[in-house]
Amino acid sequence: MSKAIVSTLYDSDVFKMACRQFDKAADAINLPEGIRDRTKYPRRCLAVALPVKRDDGSITVFEGYRVQHNLSTGPAKGGIRFHQNVTIGEVAALAMWMSWKCSLAGLPYGGAKGGIVVDPSKLTLTELEHLSRRYMQEMVNFLGPHTDVAAPDVGTNERIMGWMMDTYANHVGHIEPAVVTGKPISLGGSQGRKEATGAGVAYFVKKYLEDLKIPLGKTTVAVQGFGNVGSETALALQAYGAKIIAISDYTGGIYNPKGINIKKALAYVQYAKVLKDFDGGEPITNEQLLELKCTVLAPCALERVITDQNAGKLKCRIIAEGANGPTTNAADKILDARGDIELIPDIMCNSGGVVVSYFEWLQNLQSYYWSRDEVMEKLYVILDRAKESVEYQKRKFKFSRRLAALTLGIGRVAEAKAARGLFP
Ligand code: NAD
Repeated sequence: MSKAIVSTLYDSDVFKMACRQFDKAADAINLPEGIRDRTKYPRRCLAVALPVKRDDGSITVFEGYRVQHNLSTGPAKGGIRFHQNVTIGEVAALAMWMSWKCSLAGLPYGGAKGGIVVDPSKLTLTELEHLSRRYMQEMVNFLGPHTDVAAPDVGTNERIMGWMMDTYANHVGHIEPAVVTGKPISLGGSQGRKEATGAGVAYFVKKYLEDLKIPLGKTTVAVQGFGNVGSETALALQAYGAKIIAISDYTGGIYNPKGINIKKALAYVQYAKVLKDFDGGEPITNEQLLELKCTVLAPCALERVITDQNAGKLKCRIIAEGANGPTTNAADKILDARGDIELIPDIMCNSGGVVVSYFEWLQNLQSYYWSRDEVMEKLYVILDRAKESVEYQKRKFKFSRRLAALTLGIGRVAEAKAARGLFP
């Protein structure tokens, strides 16, 4: 009989939420007690102090983390977040979700995540470079192409991944592109990686609309978050023929029932950095955006925005979780009871990013590069397979779609752990 561990290290609402999701899924598939805790809790973590010399000559020490949740099924894999509200508990929850996501997509990876407590918009470019390099310097013995492979997440991008790869390469004495994915193409990045997460979200939306027999030409979309995932989701859905009626970022949202020109919005954000004062529609708040009448609501910003306070008021037909953990467990219950909204759960919906990260890693290890068409074709094959297996699991056990996805992801990790023995 195993005794449950009580972890205080990761204590936070978002970690508790990921743990409750795990417990529910483990109960649903009768996961044996002896395998539960070692499948559930992160394997190890590293917290680092990161002194950075500011442009004015002063020194600021930032705090950074890396949590490796699972290393049993391959190297750990996961993004690095730069955000002022990062906590080690949030990073641990995101690492857990990476484990289930990679497992569900059938990728030979465990799950990990990293983060630095910093608002990157408050740093100059030089300071940002110093911080990114210092983080990788501290992580050199913890990361590696066959141990743990990093990637971008909120607040990080291609350029930062390039600096991190270069720092690692300087340490080991030769170029090692496979330690980080989401790099610039000139440093071994993959064709299609930048748009992969949003393209995947849009692809799933298209497939579920087909199932519901809703034509793309009659589809309206509200997207929360206009960073990498949100903007690429909006671009891809607009290219499919859908009308994007609302977008937002942390400064607020824009609403236009006639449709927003997403390319124009992107050009504006590139110049102004934020959506505020973009003249493509009426200003709305993020809360109003979530409750708009639309066919598809795509939360693509941060965790826990669909809650028990607004789940009953949503007026969409599909929720496409571009973000990780946007829906609380209490909101899930309300949505399940309502039964009128198809929810495409995060660990499936936004998995296009890690799938193309996997392709990038493969290309780096083989020094053999693929065309964009090849990348996208292979991506859609994997996404179709994930959807099919989730729909089968959902029907077979009468699970919600989230429970179907979680039980598949968790079940496969537990099976591999049991097969390997106690140490991994
Ligand atoms: P990003 O930093 O590029 O963009 C984040 C966007 O969210 C920005 O527009 C920001 O202004 C907005 N935002 C922040 N706080 C907000 C708030 N309170 N209300 C509304 N908008 C807010 O980050 P990203 O890479 O697009 O990641 C977004 C989400 O997608 C995260 O949950 C991330 O974990 C998830 N995700 C990212 C990837 C990837 O490849 N980048 C892959 C899978 C999942």
